[in-house]
Amino acid sequence: MSELIQLQPFDEHNAALRDNVHPLNWQNPEPSSPYQLVVIGAGTAGLVAAAGAAGLGARVALVERELMGGDCLNVGCVPSKGMIRSAQILADVKASANFGVRIDGQVKFDFAAAMQRMRQLRARISPADSALRFRDMGVDVYFGQARFSGPDSIDVTPGNGKTQVVPFKKAVIAAGARAAAPPIAGLDQVDYLTNESVFSLTELPGRLGIIGGGPIGVELAQAFARFGSQVTLFEMSDHILKREDPDAAAIIAEQLRQDGVEIVIENKNQKLAPLENGRIRITGMGRAGDYDVTVDKLLVAVGRQPNTDSLGLQAAGVQYDRSGVLVNDRMQTSNRRVFAAGDIASHYKFTHAADFMARIVVQNALFKLGPFGARRASQLLIPWATYTTPEVAHVGMYERDARNAGLAIDTFVQPLSENDRAVLEGSEKGFVKVHVKRGTDKIVGATIVAKNAGDLISELTLAMQNGIGLRQIGNTIHPYPTQADAIRRLGDQYNKTRLTPFTTRVLKTLMRFNVG
Ligand SMILES: Cc1cc2nc3c(=O)[nH]c(=O)nc-3n(C[C@H](O)[C@H](O)[C@H](O)COP(=O)(O)OP(=O)(O)OC[C@H]3O[C@@H](n4cnc5c(N)ncnc54)[C@H](O)[C@@H]3O)c2cc1C
Repeated sequence: MSELIQLQPFDEHNAALRDNVHPLNWQNPEPSSPYQLVVIGAGTAGLVAAAGAAGLGARVALVERELMGGDCLNVGCVPSKGMIRSAQILADVKASANFGVRIDGQVKFDFAAAMQRMRQLRARISPADSALRFRDMGVDVYFGQARFSGPDSIDVTPGNGKTQVVPFKKAVIAAGARAAAPPIAGLDQVDYLTNESVFSLTELPGRLGIIGGGPIGVELAQAFARFGSQVTLFEMSDHILKREDPDAAAIIAEQLRQDGVEIVIENKNQKLAPLENGRIRITGMGRAGDYDVTVDKLLVAVGRQPNTDSLGLQAAGVQYDRSGVLVNDRMQTSNRRVFAAGDIASHYKFTHAADFMARIVVQNALFKLGPFGARRASQLLIPWATYTTPEVAHVGMYERDARNAGLAIDTFVQPLSENDRAVLEGSEKGFVKVHVKRGTDKIVGATIVAKNAGDLISELTLAMQNGIGLRQIGNTIHPYPTQADAIRRLGDQYNKTRLTPFTTRVLKTLMRFNVG
């Protein structure tokens, strides 16, 4: 969040949110002796680190310059999923005739009310990340800009300007990331939205341009298109969700087009120009040729830039580059006293990843474990999901990862069109795809495209994490009819491959003797 505390519109919900995550008139504690752990940033990584360390009895300080809860609570996961739910309801209502539900009269959508619902729920969730809750846990909560003043101290400068020096034995940098500004001609001339401002909208843009076809761009493109905006999505590469399994990305592209999103792929030579009333003219070239589009609002979602500036990292001897703070496998920086976790130190920019990295940091920072006792980031198995309809979820290797690693794999696919529950639900676009090490049932990666793929992926993550193979999944009873049963059917597919022509002949002979 670049501007301090952007909570617009400032209604009762945002007031409640602010009371929790940045109370007015908060008195910062007075640091006496060095803290055992100082945490910079109160997003997911910082909150988990502070709570974990305080729970172990450590003296902990937590410093936040804007809103506790960080991106996820305030301008990320929580508001986006709140909005997406309204978009799903609207899409379901519009498709209701297919289910025998006739609605007499017009279906009206109230964008302001949907956003108000989101703000209300965000405020309702916020006590979990609140300053008071953390103070009650025994954490010293400071509001202000944190900046290293040396290898074992930071300066904290609150809004009122009086800098405090906070000494530490160990520190965690959990300062997160923000929307990157791409080098697009004219970007600095126009007033554009990012994830920091888009959730403050109270009026639905008639025409919305979105630059960036990654998870954030795609989730919001679908939501706004379903709300009724005319959405144009610009993506530089030859397909959206370029990191995902290509079959999964193709299903989402098809769904977005059905939802009314215009997708421009292979976008280049893009230029932006301001027009009157805040409108923006976007010109450039895509695969289909030149385009010239006018939008009422433009959202830029082209990746995340780590918040390394203004931390004074040089003063602490902490190395960093454009990708963020550099850490070893123990999440330790070039200053042995300083660790880092979350978006600022990882290309896995997810809340659950930040959470588990922070747990590693607490253990490694507070317990002097030998080289074999330390917890390592490379041991984390991190799944992720994109919350479009249908959702896309993934864990482990993609086919290209296996190819690059020289690992031979077998791939099993179960289309949802063969899953009774998905058919009955009217959500049969999708599949479960599992890669196993060739000739074995050891799962090395999986992608699911389904209505609730983000939930379904956990069965495969659990299996991978605990060495459970496809054979065992195939032998595990799943309730009928569920979409999860598609995962079990992959086990059946695998078990069939174990039948050699010889065993098949033997089984058939035995069956002949059994019959009659
Ligand atoms: C639109 C959007 C949707 C998302 N949806 C999902 C999702 O559905 N699921 C998911 O897993 N992830 C999602 N993410 C990603 C998720 O929000 C991040 O991975 C997560 O917030 C990272 O947590 P963090 O603690 O590393 O950083 P942050 O949440 O960014 O927290 C860092 C904190 O540090 C503070 N800070 C920075 N510099 C200083 C300083 N110098 N002094 C003091 N404080 C400082 C910041 O103000 C901030 O509060 C989404 C992100 C966006 C933008």
